[in-house]
Amino acid sequence: MVYEVVLTTDRTMMSNHHGKEFLGFIATGPAIGIPEKLWLWIAAPKIKVDELGRPREAPYGLRKVEAKLIDEGFKAAIIDPDHLDKHLDTMKVLMIGHHDFFAYGPPSSEWWSLTGKEPINRISFKRLMESPVVRKAKERGVKIIVGGPAAWQWLWELDLWRKWGVDTVIEGEVEKVIADIVEKALNDEPLPDYIYIGPRDSPSLEEIPVIKGASVNGLVEIMRGCPRGCKFCSVTLRPLRHIPLDKIREEIRVNIRAGINGIILHSEDVLLYGADGVKPKPEPLLKLHEMVVEEIGERSDLAWAHASLAAIKYVEDEYKLVSKLMDEYVLNDYRRFLGVEVGIETGSPRLAKIIMPAKSAPYPPEKWPDVVEDAFRIMHENKIIPAATIILGLPQETPEDVMKTAELIDRLRPYRSIIVPMFFVPMGALKKNKWFLRDHIKREHIDVMYKCFEHAIYWAEDIMSKFYLKEPYLFPVRMGLRLFIKYARRKVRKITEQLEIPVKT
Ligand code: SF4
Repeated sequence: MVYEVVLTTDRTMMSNHHGKEFLGFIATGPAIGIPEKLWLWIAAPKIKVDELGRPREAPYGLRKVEAKLIDEGFKAAIIDPDHLDKHLDTMKVLMIGHHDFFAYGPPSSEWWSLTGKEPINRISFKRLMESPVVRKAKERGVKIIVGGPAAWQWLWELDLWRKWGVDTVIEGEVEKVIADIVEKALNDEPLPDYIYIGPRDSPSLEEIPVIKGASVNGLVEIMRGCPRGCKFCSVTLRPLRHIPLDKIREEIRVNIRAGINGIILHSEDVLLYGADGVKPKPEPLLKLHEMVVEEIGERSDLAWAHASLAAIKYVEDEYKLVSKLMDEYVLNDYRRFLGVEVGIETGSPRLAKIIMPAKSAPYPPEKWPDVVEDAFRIMHENKIIPAATIILGLPQETPEDVMKTAELIDRLRPYRSIIVPMFFVPMGALKKNKWFLRDHIKREHIDVMYKCFEHAIYWAEDIMSKFYLKEPYLFPVRMGLRLFIKYARRKVRKITEQLEIPVKT
């Protein structure tokens, strides 16, 4: 098969992370306490490929672009970064996607800022761009087009942009423009340096293609956009679209046919599928889960990419829907938990009101800490394990706000979860604000980070041994993580002694 358009990414993205999506986050940090090779293997092992180097699973964003190009008649395919040389003679356009090209996004930037060491994802991406095969492709006149949610990061790396000969950077949803750009690249016509695709050019439901090959860990999109309008978020700028059940079913089938043993429903808020604004409706959610479980059978994993804490509380309080979904569709002898990412961001109602006034809706922002705790309790009782984020250094944050966040983390101690502190990165409506870096960290931020660490250590063993990494083949990964936890404990103990932070565990 001759491919003129090759899509790829670096190793940290082209991996299924041992079938455990959460392990992928480890690639956003530098290797700490263990050799880089072992760190990379834990976070991003190589993926199975066919004789042409086409991966069995590939990042969902790349799959969407690949599908659009195939539908438009291009000879395009995703190729694993270790197999690009097989296509060097035919390749005319090289497209590279990433969700964090230069490790400026969360949580890479915090790791980098705290340790002073370059995160693995950045090292790995630079390695790809400087690899002999990519350099040779460029010398032969191959056009390089990059894009994905981290496209904005190229504006901070103009020297590398020029040095590596990147022809075009595309930011935003590409479905409506990509065929035209690739056509121009193939015809050697001049290409724009940077394309920003605004909400008005977002594709309609009909223009969003169905993926042709499996996505990493069976990720399938059920919605695009988010109605909550948090000021630090770029997703919210996109129009809201609910993908019809038939299309979701088709993509699940693509994954199951490829032998993927699980599905991740992707949305910024899974519980808003089919909703009226920010008020979830039971019927579409029941239909969605009924269909998904019917398709994947009882032995496959199921996860939600993201859910809002307000929606979790609302659907349970109003309809007992979390319990119903978990009892009737999700949990069984093989599926013993459901993983999800959730955003706490702050424990301060004052700051919540300024920065994310609708995050707590339909509850008022004044009630935010209670909404968070109630949602955590509901998840704990229903075997949902959240990975939650906290954002430090938000514009207009005061020491009192940070203390309220610390208090909230204390309240969340009884609930099985991981809480990850992140530093503010200027995105969305707050694009023009300053980055929050190591120089800005104050004592109260260190207290919050320490509390998150304590919370994670408190729950890590329980999660690893009872739920997340139980499978015998993951024994080496468990061992690697335990080594890292031991090392981190020692390091953090030293720091707490120096800073005289009271230690709980
Ligand atoms: S709820 Fe999440 S996805 Fe929606 S606007 Fe806020 S941060 Fe963005």
